[in-house]
Amino acid sequence: MNIEFETRIPDVAVEKTIIKKGTILILEDQRGFRQVYRDVLELDGYEVLEGTDGETGWDIIVTKKPDLVLLDLGLPVLDGFKVLEKIRRSEQTKGIPVIIFSVLGEPKDVKKAMDMGANDYTVKGFYTPRQVLSKIKTILKDSKMKTPTTSYKLLLQEDRKGIVKLEADLGLENGMQCPECFVAMEAEFFPEYARSDGHWFAARFVCPSCSKAF
Ligand code: CA
Repeated sequence: MNIEFETRIPDVAVEKTIIKKGTILILEDQRGFRQVYRDVLELDGYEVLEGTDGETGWDIIVTKKPDLVLLDLGLPVLDGFKVLEKIRRSEQTKGIPVIIFSVLGEPKDVKKAMDMGANDYTVKGFYTPRQVLSKIKTILKDSKMKTPTTSYKLLLQEDRKGIVKLEADLGLENGMQCPECFVAMEAEFFPEYARSDGHWFAARFVCPSCSKAF
């Protein structure tokens, strides 16, 4: 479960809890494709950004830091390979997962993109948006598991009242203990760079024993 709240560490403003899954950039010049994927992703709770050419897409990536990019290879101005190269070269963006949109008959292009650091690919018309959604979920889960060192860790001990409300909201019957391992969980905070109206963080709770996240 991903939650988002505004906080100045270590104050935990639990009352501002909002469910949010993450931001996905659809970088694709075909309007119909963008529309289909926007609908599916928004329905599933993601925030969606759209770009129609490589250059404006790269600007969006740098300024908004999406959690994942759906990247068409055949884009105007800067093609998908150039955008992918920029993403992987910049210290700020190199960890952003990328799923390639390719067209059939471009197996070499798919291989090239995967060699350049794309996380996965989808062939247009051969994968349903639901199948792509499932790829997105898997990749986002993996990428969050791999980046705990860049998160803030905080033991929720200072604000007992806030914790009680948070436990209830998350449905954690045993308090801030892992329901399976019965050890105290750690909170991890991820800065929400895309939001400029305050100090926003995405948070999740991780069991230090089994690494399961809530
Ligand atoms: Ca295209």
